Amino acid sequence: MAFLLLLLIHLSKRWRTDVLLVSPWLAPIVWEGTFNRDILNAQYRQKNFVVGVATFAVKKYDFPWFLGSANKFFLSGHRVNFYLFTDHPEKVPSINLAPEKRLFIIPVQNYSRWQDISMNRMDIISNHIHSHWRYEVDYLYSMDIDVQMFEHIGVEIIDTLVGTISSWQYTKPRDSNSYERHPESRAAIPHGEGDFYYAASFYGGSVSEVYKLTTACFKGVTEDRANGIEAKWHEESHLNKYLLYHKPTRLLSPEYYWDEELIRPRIIRVKRLSSHLWHLRD
Ligand code: UDP
Ligand code: MN
Repeated sequence: MAFLLLLLIHLSKRWRTDVLLVSPWLAPIVWEGTFNRDILNAQYRQKNFVVGVATFAVKKYDFPWFLGSANKFFLSGHRVNFYLFTDHPEKVPSINLAPEKRLFIIPVQNYSRWQDISMNRMDIISNHIHSHWRYEVDYLYSMDIDVQMFEHIGVEIIDTLVGTISSWQYTKPRDSNSYERHPESRAAIPHGEGDFYYAASFYGGSVSEVYKLTTACFKGVTEDRANGIEAKWHEESHLNKYLLYHKPTRLLSPEYYWDEELIRPRIIRVKRLSSHLWHLRD
C-alpha cells in the first residue's frame, strides 16, 4: 500500500497532473514531463527536415545572447538555418556554429518607431517565404532576439501551426483585457471570445501555414494603419486574432517563452527561453 502511494507520488511528480495538457480542440500543450525526447528525435531524424528561424536585430537591438544560446539549445543535432534580418550586418559577430546549423544575414531597412519594426516583421517574413523559404526550409519559426535559451528546445516544438502561450496567462489572468477589443481594429476579438493568449515573441509552423498567418496579420496591420488605428499589442494582437480563428495544431507552454518581469510559478518547471529585462527601445 505504502509502495503504491510512493509510486503514485513519484509518477505524479514526473507526469504532469498540474497543468492542462490538451487544448479543447485536442492540440497537445507541450510541458516538461510530457514527452520523451529520444523517441521524438528518432522519429524526426528519418524526415531530414530543415527548420528556419527568422529573427530581427534592427537599430539598438543587438544579439549578444541569442545566437550563442540558440546554437547550443535550439534543435541541437538537427538542421537549422538562422536568418538574421538587420540594418547593421557589418556588426554581426562571427560565431562558430554547430555543423548542422547555418546563419544567413539579410540586410533590412529600419523604421523610426519600434512598433513599426516589430509589426513589419510579419510583412518581411511573408515576403521572404514567397521569395526564398518555401524552397529552402520545411518549418519556420519567428523569434524575438532579446531572449536567451537556457535549456533544450527540441523537435517537440515541430508541428503545422504552433503558438506559445503567454507567460502572463499563468500569472495575472490577462485574457479579458489583453486582446484588442475595439471593434474598429482588424485585430478585434469580441468580448467573451478568446481562448489562450499567445506571445508574438515565438510562433511558427510549416512554411505554408506561417505564410498564411503572416500575410493575414500584416493585412490587418495595413488596414488598421489606413484607418489610423494601431492595435493594443501591435502585431501580437493580430496574431491572437488569427490563432483564435485558425487554431494552432500544437501549443507551447510558457516554458518556451518566459517573461522575466514575472515571478515564475511552480508549474513552470523549466525555463527554456526567457526575455531579457532591460529594454533597448528608444
Ligand atoms: N526589434 C528590433 N529593433 C527594434 C524593435 C524591435 O530589432 O527597435 C525586433 C527584435 O527582434 C525584438 C522584436 O522586434 O526582439 C520585438 O520587439 P521587443 O522585443 O521590443 O517586443 P516585446 O518583446 O517587448 O513585446
Ligand atoms: Mn522581446
